Amino acid sequence: MSTAPPDAADRRAAPAVICYPTETLPAPPLALYASARIGAVEQARHIIPPREARAFELPAGHFCRISCPEGSQVGDLNLFAARNLSERFFSGKTRALHGSHVTTGARLWSCLPWLRPMATITADSLAWYGVDADGGRVHDVIGTRCDPYTHTLLSGGEYHQCCHSNLARALGAHLGHPAQEVEHHVHDVLNVFMCTGFTRDTGQYFMKASPARAGDYLEFFAEIDLLGVLSACPGGDCGAEHSSDAALCHPLEVTILCPPAGALAGWESPAPSGYSRQHGAPRTAY
Ligand SMILES: [Zn+2]
Repeated sequence: MSTAPPDAADRRAAPAVICYPTETLPAPPLALYASARIGAVEQARHIIPPREARAFELPAGHFCRISCPEGSQVGDLNLFAARNLSERFFSGKTRALHGSHVTTGARLWSCLPWLRPMATITADSLAWYGVDADGGRVHDVIGTRCDPYTHTLLSGGEYHQCCHSNLARALGAHLGHPAQEVEHHVHDVLNVFMCTGFTRDTGQYFMKASPARAGDYLEFFAEIDLLGVLSACPGGDCGAEHSSDAALCHPLEVTILCPPAGALAGWESPAPSGYSRQHGAPRTAY
C-alpha cells in the first residue's frame, strides 16, 4: 500500500486535458457523402453466418452498410488497405482521436506510418443510445476481439469460433492460405453494435447486451480501396458471455453501395501521412 501525501487532493485536482484536440483535424465532407449516398446502388451483398467471418472488397468511394437483419448481433471488423495488408485499422489511435466509441463523423484510421482515414462513418441507427447509466456506449474501439489464446488462458479449454479464429479463417480463405499463416494480420477490431465501457470502481472492461435490434445498421464511406473482414461474434449480443456456443447468435449482412457517377466530384482519396520519417538524431546527453 502507498500512503497519500498531504497534497494528494491538490494533485488529483489537476485539470484534465484532452490528449489529442481535434480542432485541427480535417473535417470529413459529410454533406458531400450524404448527397453521394442518395441514389447509390447495391453492388454486392455478403451474409456473415453466425460464429463465422467473411472477407469482402470495398473500393474507395463506395459505401459499406453493416446490419443485423435477424436480431441483435455484435460484429468484429478488420480493415486492410486492399493491396497492402501491412496498412491496417489502428483502433488505438482511432480511440485516442475520436473517443472510446465511434459514430457518424468519426474516421477509422490506419496504422503508422500511413495514418490516414481508411473510412468515415456516415450513418448510425444507434446514435440515439449515447451513454447509459453504467457508462456504456455502442460501437467500441476498446476491445481487441475475442480470441482462443485468452480463452485458453482463462478457462484451460479450447474454442475455435472466437472472432480472432473466424477472422483468420476468412482472411486465409480469401488469400488462399491456411488460417495459421495469416493470423498475424488479424488486428484489434471495431466492435460494431457492441455496448461496452469501464467499471467506475475497478476500471475493468465490461460489456452489456447490445441495444441493436433487427434492422439496425452502421454505414461507412471507404476513403481508400479496402479489404474488410467481419466476424459475427460467438457472443451474439454480448449480453452474457463470448467464446462459447452458449449465446444466441444471428447473421450479419454487409452491403456494398456504389454512388452515382459524378456524385463525388472534388473528393480525393487521402494520401498517407506527410511526416518525413526522418525521426531525427539523438540529442546531446542529458
Ligand atoms: Zn467476438
